[in-house]
Amino acid sequence: MGTSAKALDAIKKSLNIPSRYPDGSAVELRKNLANFNNLNMNNIICGNGSDEILSMFANCFAGQNDEIVYSEHGFLVYPIATKAAGAIPIIAKEKNYKANVEEIIKVCSNKTKVCFIANPNNPTGTYLTRDELITLRQKLPINCLLVIDSAYAEYVEKEDYTNGFDLVNKFENVACTRTFSKIYGLAALRIGWAYASLDVIDYLNRIRLPFNINTIAQNAAIAAIQDQAFIKKAIQHNNTWKHYIEKELINLGINIIPGVGNFVLAQYNNIEQANNCYIYLEENNIFVRKVSEYGLADCLRITVGLEEENIYLIKMIKNFIENN
Ligand code: PMP
Repeated sequence: MGTSAKALDAIKKSLNIPSRYPDGSAVELRKNLANFNNLNMNNIICGNGSDEILSMFANCFAGQNDEIVYSEHGFLVYPIATKAAGAIPIIAKEKNYKANVEEIIKVCSNKTKVCFIANPNNPTGTYLTRDELITLRQKLPINCLLVIDSAYAEYVEKEDYTNGFDLVNKFENVACTRTFSKIYGLAALRIGWAYASLDVIDYLNRIRLPFNINTIAQNAAIAAIQDQAFIKKAIQHNNTWKHYIEKELINLGINIIPGVGNFVLAQYNNIEQANNCYIYLEENNIFVRKVSEYGLADCLRITVGLEEENIYLIKMIKNFIENN
């Protein structure tokens, strides 16, 4: 869906001020986030993409000899952030491509300082319900911070889902991250944020570099929040076309891991078929994501595109299946 026209306009208007430093505290952006989400701005920190904030969590709360836990097919920034912090990555098994509370608890110890959960997860698209997250929080060691990474929250319309804000309000040792890179279409500008207790935000601010989000990004994000009509349209578009891609792939004999993000995880008969389909699509100017680093070598992650792109995608996968 690209980017909101209003956000693009704010970007253009910000281009004449590069000689000035940005607002290091991102006050206007935090105010807008707080107003829109009905939160207190003092509980919000902004980052250079949510990647930066995820890495700040690892650096702040874990170090040598500490452990950070995440699930088997979890988002790949978690191992990067864990290792960069000098901590030990601990991987919990999943069941049916979904994070599993019992398995996470099984691998925790008194050294476990952070638990990262992407909800929904990239690349599987699966999610833990609110009740499952509460059970996870209650069973995790009390000194282990639960970081709920809700990068795709806007796309999820399930009643048993929470973006995590209510859990941050309920438990001091839960934090939640969000991003402008997905539904807001501002990935290139690198803007993410976190909602957490005042203590957690204070710790993060102690290691945050002073000017981590540039002015253009801050202004674009503010304009993007204010254009909720664009977000509504993007949600509707995603619902329609994700369903279309899933249905067509199933008709072509390709398995789908049922997910709730803005992408489809397509599971092929075997690794060779997935790789060959990837190459065929690439030759035809369709760029999907190989996910072998996630332990999913027989799968491809396909992001929902524009109407004509989705139709072309299915046409090309059909050609591939018929000729292979
Ligand atoms: N979390 C998840 C689950 C993601 O998929 C991504 C982007 N791939 C991010 C966080 C990071 O987003 P960004 O740094 O662009 O805010």
